[in-house]
Amino acid sequence: MLLENITMADFQKGLKKTKTIIIPFGTVEEHGSHLPLSTDTMQVYEVVKEVAKRVKVFVAPPVHYGVLTSTREHPGSIGISANSLRMITRDIVKSAYSKGLRNFILISGHAGNIHMSALREVGEELIDELDDIKIAVISEYDMIRKESEKFVETKDDGHAGEIETSRILYLAPQLVKGMAREEYPKLPKPFLVRDKVKYWKGGVWGNPVKATREKGEKLFLFSVMKVAEVVKKVEKMK
Ligand SMILES: [Zn+2]
Repeated sequence: MLLENITMADFQKGLKKTKTIIIPFGTVEEHGSHLPLSTDTMQVYEVVKEVAKRVKVFVAPPVHYGVLTSTREHPGSIGISANSLRMITRDIVKSAYSKGLRNFILISGHAGNIHMSALREVGEELIDELDDIKIAVISEYDMIRKESEKFVETKDDGHAGEIETSRILYLAPQLVKGMAREEYPKLPKPFLVRDKVKYWKGGVWGNPVKATREKGEKLFLFSVMKVAEVVKKVEKMK
């Protein structure tokens, strides 16, 4: 049940079948010269829409903005602060709670550290405040990481590389513009630098050249299966 399509009456009927909602999180973020800025949002939203076809669950429209760190100076990257992400997440969960929902699956297509910590932090606060809810916080990228190692050829593939390019080749090949080359960021760790583009020109972490539509399909289907499992698990939890 996609909130963007159902009516007030559908919502009320749906609540009798499930009190679980998936809230997807994405970004507007550079993904190399070849992938769309909404790559993270698209990946996660398409997965959870497919999950909604297989199990009874509500799916919220995605929160399209996220917290950007190493990509935030690149052209097209438009991020929000961790504080804003915490606040909007808290507001959405509390509003959904007041409408009768009790199980919240927060799943992010963006795996950035600060972004994920903000979601976990607000999740921890909410389980303290609302004693009859369950919350799962998932980084979709980390969830499929182990499975991807079975057939993804690039060892250190992270951002707009083999994995993400494969996934967009499967979901929206018309949005893949040419192909960026293999690249890895050269940020001068442990220092934090303002001019990140200087150390990471193309905004790619990994090797997009190895991407295929078939790999994308496998990753998509695996992710759908894993999220559907989480939905079933949360419904059974006491
Ligand atoms: Zn991404």
